[in-house]
Amino acid sequence: MGIDFIYPEFEVVRNNDRCTKCRVCERQCANEVHAYDADLGVMTSDESKCVDCQRCVSMCPVRALKIVRSDCALRANANWDQDTVKEIYKQAGSGGVLLSSMGNPKPLPVYWDRILINASQVTNPSIDPLREPMETKVFLGKKPVAVKREPDGTLNTELPPQLELDLPVMFSAMSYGSISYNAHASLAMAAEKLGTYYNTGEGGLHEDFYRYGPHTIVQVASGRFGVHEKYLEAGAAIEIKIGQGAKPGIGGHLPGAKVGPDVSRTRMIPEGSDAISPAPHHDIYSIEDLRQLVLSLKEATGYAKPVIVKVAAVHNISAIASGIARSGADIIAIDGFRGGTGAAPTRIRDNVGIPIELALAAVDQRLRDEGIRNNVSIVAGGSMRSSADVVKAIALGADACYIATAAVLALGCHLRRTCQSGKCSWGIATQRPDLVKRLDPDTGTKRLVALLEAWKHEIKELMGGMGINSIEALRGNRLMLRGIGLSEKELSILGIKHAGE
Ligand code: SF4
Ligand code: SF4
Repeated sequence: MGIDFIYPEFEVVRNNDRCTKCRVCERQCANEVHAYDADLGVMTSDESKCVDCQRCVSMCPVRALKIVRSDCALRANANWDQDTVKEIYKQAGSGGVLLSSMGNPKPLPVYWDRILINASQVTNPSIDPLREPMETKVFLGKKPVAVKREPDGTLNTELPPQLELDLPVMFSAMSYGSISYNAHASLAMAAEKLGTYYNTGEGGLHEDFYRYGPHTIVQVASGRFGVHEKYLEAGAAIEIKIGQGAKPGIGGHLPGAKVGPDVSRTRMIPEGSDAISPAPHHDIYSIEDLRQLVLSLKEATGYAKPVIVKVAAVHNISAIASGIARSGADIIAIDGFRGGTGAAPTRIRDNVGIPIELALAAVDQRLRDEGIRNNVSIVAGGSMRSSADVVKAIALGADACYIATAAVLALGCHLRRTCQSGKCSWGIATQRPDLVKRLDPDTGTKRLVALLEAWKHEIKELMGGMGINSIEALRGNRLMLRGIGLSEKELSILGIKHAGE
């Protein structure tokens, strides 16, 4: 017995007075929900396959379609909600691990929404970003202990390698394989136009994207897919991925069905084979081992590129970050438990890890207490939803933020959480050529650039309101934040006062 006896989660509502039977919905649905019955002359729907991606709704030329959540509900209660019951049925039928994608959807605290930003009034006046210069540029990497200048003002200090960002936001790791060629092209072109960086994830770098190298972070993960000298040389920085927020403690899995000729060549693995990256790096069991890999990567690239170490936000993250800062890494990227993914075991995604807000504040404080904060930059990721989240993250101690879910939303993602199926209707998390071509890279680039230009403007407005005119002055400035409805313990970890204080 499978789950077929469960009534479908969504219903297709077709207005037959409007429907012209053009069959656009049939062609657009990646899940084969719609069909035309020639004998009866009607459109039919197999609703059991619908994932509510809204593609057919958007494309129907006469607005004849609606997808609604079925009101034929299972008898649920506060303890056994509908999803929990369905998951039991599913596993009783399949005996398998539940797979999912995107970020943790559970109603756990979103601390960004419990933190409020300050604004200047009367003294320390606010700054009008339309009339006065505001600096959103940031540099990521180790900072020199002191800066010396020649009498004529020129710099006489050798700077460690830095990443230069025109705004404190970068595109987080998404591998070619988990997302499409056109999605990668959009991210690469947008990063170049915005003066920021995108990240290859663990999928290697497609030969067409080497030209975007100065705006590319190349990742080295436990599977070492697509890692070779030319790849390391191509990037502006190298990121060692130890963990990611959506699935801390486990490796990656790209199903063989997504490994076509192009992905296979880029990852340097046989076509059709599953790309499974192990949970640990088999050569890293201590900070000393990590140091060896950091130094090997620096050695391989002439000490010209910063090395990032990316970890998931987990218990004891501040001690872990302290070790990373001592490993020789230039940048620590911390990924909170709401971070997205193309595929993860549902139980891991929903139950493992901690919020980025608490992890970030704890790490920044620990590195300051130990006097090593300037040895590394901190990049925070894991569900940055708006410019306000970015501003709060910087005030909590981040140098910059990674975004990924917000970026794929800008590309058209409807957050259906079925990326693992490989049938993304919007051409993002898929390798099916007919679906990939639905995402036009030029349009994707324009939308990503528009999103981050808007965020940049909002960041300037928020900073101006605080009477601050540079990201540098905002970084770690927790006096600009107040908590609302938080316990003493939460406030103490965040290092902020309660609203009203
Ligand atoms: S796309 Fe709209 S009009 Fe065309 S067949 Fe489907 S429901 Fe009917
Ligand atoms: S899966 Fe998407 S395209 Fe297909 S019927 Fe459902 S909402 Fe429409």
